[in-house]
Amino acid sequence: MIKGSTELVAIVGSPVTQVKSPENFNRWFADRQQNVAMLAIDLAPSALQNFIETLRSWRNLRGCVVTVPYKQLLASRLDSVSERSAVLGSVNVIRREADGRLVGDIVDGEGFLSAARQQGFDPQGKQALVIGTGGVGSAIAYSLCQAGISHLVISDLSTERVEALAELLRSAFPEIVISTQPASLEPFDLVINASPVGMGATSDEGPMPLPLELMQTLQGSTLVADVVTSPAMTPFLAFARDRGCPIQTGPEMALAQLGNLGHFMGVTPLQI
Ligand code: NAD
Repeated sequence: MIKGSTELVAIVGSPVTQVKSPENFNRWFADRQQNVAMLAIDLAPSALQNFIETLRSWRNLRGCVVTVPYKQLLASRLDSVSERSAVLGSVNVIRREADGRLVGDIVDGEGFLSAARQQGFDPQGKQALVIGTGGVGSAIAYSLCQAGISHLVISDLSTERVEALAELLRSAFPEIVISTQPASLEPFDLVINASPVGMGATSDEGPMPLPLELMQTLQGSTLVADVVTSPAMTPFLAFARDRGCPIQTGPEMALAQLGNLGHFMGVTPLQI
């Protein structure tokens, strides 16, 4: 029940009917009898500047999760953003400070890492491959570098995007080896599909984000992860599972990220 005293958080995007954050956050708040609730806001692009001004003055709103198509558009319009948001030009969460200032961060990569750590993965000194260098892949790649991996390989259908991210990461993390387009999966401790490939697949025979001959080089000791949330078991993860690899699903990342988003807005602990 939303009351006059209820503190609010929001998720803004367009469309928003598919987003899972409101039910996940509201269940978490209700289970703990917290007087906080999340609203989903389907915002027309023409209202974005007014929305920012409204956020500044919205006294019972603690913060706002940001989804497609506003992650990049909002990054340049806040009062301050984290270093990784500034470098990546993207935010997925905003906190409203008591004086109305708006502060942004991107925690997709931190959510991914929280889920990986929950199953015992320690990124320090590890070698990782990130397939897909869009919004989510870039954030994961950046967080892996911040967490101290030794070697990162990134790949994407767009060579332009891959080269741009490689250059940006090399200058932010000169001590880490950053390369592109893998020749074999053998060296990797972690392989992540951060592209939408596999979304909506209805059987294990669906599309893979890498050519089959490269997939055949996957070792059983490699942690294999996917960001795709539906289905949870993508053809890529099913292939890895059948080779004996530990796996991490997109819904596991989404669930772990609730703590990162809620903590940034000041409404949950980091680990939930
Ligand atoms: P995006 O459009 O910004 O980027 C996708 C990238 O994948 C593009 O650069 C594209 O060129 C690349 N790509 C497509 N096919 C490829 C292939 N076969 N090989 C290599 N690269 C390929 O999208 P995004 O915002 O980064 O989202 C990616 C996925 O992450 C979506 O499926 C989204 O639903 C999912 N997602 C999951 C979570 C979660 O918590 N699990 C959170 C946010 C988004």
